[in-house]
Amino acid sequence: MSKTFRVFATCDIGDALNILRERGYDLEVYPKPEAPPKTLVIEKVKSGIDGLITTLRDKIDTEVFSAGNGTLKVVAQLAVGFDNINRADANTHKVPFTNTADVLTDATAEFAFFALGDLARRLWTAERMLREKRWGYWHPYLPFLGDEVTGKTIAIIGTGRIGLAMIRKCVGFDMNILCYDPGYENHAFIKAVQEEKDVRHTRGITSEKTLIRYTSFDEALRNSDYVSVHVPLLREGESATPTYHLFNEKTLRMMKPTAMLVNTSRGPVIDENALAKALRERWIAGAALDVYEKEPLPDDSPLRDPQIEDRCRLYPHFASAARITRLSRDPNKGMAGRCVQGLIDVLEGNYGGDISKMPYVVNKEAFTK
Ligand code: NAD
Repeated sequence: MSKTFRVFATCDIGDALNILRERGYDLEVYPKPEAPPKTLVIEKVKSGIDGLITTLRDKIDTEVFSAGNGTLKVVAQLAVGFDNINRADANTHKVPFTNTADVLTDATAEFAFFALGDLARRLWTAERMLREKRWGYWHPYLPFLGDEVTGKTIAIIGTGRIGLAMIRKCVGFDMNILCYDPGYENHAFIKAVQEEKDVRHTRGITSEKTLIRYTSFDEALRNSDYVSVHVPLLREGESATPTYHLFNEKTLRMMKPTAMLVNTSRGPVIDENALAKALRERWIAGAALDVYEKEPLPDDSPLRDPQIEDRCRLYPHFASAARITRLSRDPNKGMAGRCVQGLIDVLEGNYGGDISKMPYVVNKEAFTK
């Protein structure tokens, strides 16, 4: 490598960064656990760095791209979601950005499933009762009961990578599955899952016959016991079917009063004031959330209302937070490895320097000849 590439990482993403050091890159890592102020990111970009490593906490828009005019060659994001990066601005400035899709798919889907279990079977409430020494007796229904997941109906909203992985988890629990995705219907996958379900039934693995099919959003909400959300955050103008506040007063009211909602996608997909009201007034029975409109969750968030604590599980944007998933330096296993590889592909001109062929570049449209 003749040129020494300069890279600024807004966060320490672990051992994978050593791949860059080993290749002779001039690498600076922001040392604090919190995100750096945007002014510092702009200052670093202005100083002429070639590559910027970001996380979902960094807002990357025209201010940042303008600061790197002619020098910034790539933004490598440690996440599959990239709603913090303004795609139109990246395209205007002709800067490719990469993400870390696939390597976190199963980790996120299994977390969504476990969150569903925690919520439905009231695991957190039960353990807290024991720890607070309030477990006074065994009783058939006191002090509370949970709800089974097995054999129930789940709506999968968004059948991209993580939605399909969530479906795979739900098959093992013999759930009926209603799918909704206005942009991508994978009928071959759904057909294969139905065949798997049929085999489970005909071969006596399960006594009930269960179904999977695509349906409308309304039908999915009205007929499900659980709803799990796996969409990207798309605001007005970014998609014909935006997902910003997809769950609001109107759509939450479509759900059954016994139904529960799980969101591991992005916080602004749910109107949190509407959700807190829905939980307080019991339009729905519960919610488990990993992501929020504002992160970290503000102290005065209505979701922290003690009145709804027993039916509102809150996790700290944790769904991909598994050791190998987050940190492996292998780009086929870990987000950190994939993030670093995406950066190297662009800077070192892999794939014959054709950005539109680089697998981890998101905004390929800006580079298609
Ligand atoms: P993906 O692009 O493979 O799938 C998203 C699907 O949503 C697509 O099929 C798309 O057509 C569909 N969609 C778009 N608009 C929709 C709408 N209005 N209604 C229903 N479906 C719609 O993405 P993925 O890899 O499955 O990831 C999904 C999202 O999950 C990411 O964008 C990210 O925001 C989030 N995520 C969160 C965590 C976490 O730590 N909590 C981890 C990984 C991913």
